[in-house]
Amino acid sequence: MPNAHTTSPKLIDQFGRQVDYIRLSITDRCDFRCVYCMSEDMTFLSRDEVLSLEECARLVRIFVQLGVSKVRITGGEPLVRKNALWLFNEIGQLKGLHELVLTTNGSQLAKQAAALKQAGVKRINISVDSLQPERFNRITRTGHLAQVLDGLRAAIAAGFEGIKLNTVLMRDTNDDEAEDLVAFAIQHQIDISFIEEMPLGEVNHTRDSTFVSNLDTLKRLQSKYSLIPSTHSSGGPARYWQVANANTKIGFISPHSHNFCESCNRVRISCKGELFLCLGQEDKVELMPLLRAHPTNDAPVIEAILNSMSIKPKGHDFDLKRAAPAVVRFMSHTGG
Ligand code: SAM
Ligand code: SF4
Repeated sequence: MPNAHTTSPKLIDQFGRQVDYIRLSITDRCDFRCVYCMSEDMTFLSRDEVLSLEECARLVRIFVQLGVSKVRITGGEPLVRKNALWLFNEIGQLKGLHELVLTTNGSQLAKQAAALKQAGVKRINISVDSLQPERFNRITRTGHLAQVLDGLRAAIAAGFEGIKLNTVLMRDTNDDEAEDLVAFAIQHQIDISFIEEMPLGEVNHTRDSTFVSNLDTLKRLQSKYSLIPSTHSSGGPARYWQVANANTKIGFISPHSHNFCESCNRVRISCKGELFLCLGQEDKVELMPLLRAHPTNDAPVIEAILNSMSIKPKGHDFDLKRAAPAVVRFMSHTGG
């Protein structure tokens, strides 16, 4: 049986891909209700159905022992979880963890950015789908743009190594804002990624009615900006372009128009401790029962994680025309 103290096996799946990146959702709850992410009347998990912060820290430590060098904390909205900062402080200095990064909607950043930087967070992704206050409120249903922009300013002042905006464009909702969002990113010398909408969970619209292809967005942006293909890679579905004469890269996260699965280096852990081997498939391993049955012995958890590599699927299977969502769980549950 693998022992964490004497061996450090790597996570390599049946297709030879090494997993060195985990995304951990620390809550399914959120102060926003973005139309593409959640239904209006979401029901959330009860407290004991969700990993404790101590269990989150233990899992991160185990994965780092297994060769994971990058951890993204996400949600739901990770910064609305009580004491979230404790977790960042706990894992921020782990030996072998080179990149502790965060995805947030920015609503709590004005208060927390400096402490997150201090805890060891290297880079932050902030979701911003519109720069028009009313439209922003319509998309997020409960969010206020001014609060998020205050958060962004606090993050810039805190001096993170990188800040990136994440934007989901939806047809006839905000797809006319790609150029403005890029201009905003250039002005603030930060990066921006456009994420294609994915069919995760049941929402109030059919996904193909709002889908905007990143290929179309790229063409629009190329008519306004001089874009140079960048070799920058995060090992995932994003392809990057450098804006000429600017300190801004534009990423395109394109699960539909670009097949990225062959270089997939990541797995996701839901706030319930489910280890999902692929964002677009149901294959998973339940880690919470193991964590709770063996509170002081990591070996069974390590064994389950190592065994999970044999069921990591070759790739996802998104199809927007399907009536049902490709995957029934919401992104906020699995962690985006
Ligand atoms: N609340 C945080 C936020 O909004 O950044 C973190 C969690 S959120 C699930 C992570 C990312 O997933 C966000 O950038 C969001 O825009 C994106 N997202 C959520 N649902 C999506 C969907 N169905 N398709 C594509 N992106 C989605
Ligand atoms: Fe919340 Fe992020 Fe989902 Fe929006 S995208 S509802 S901010 S979890």
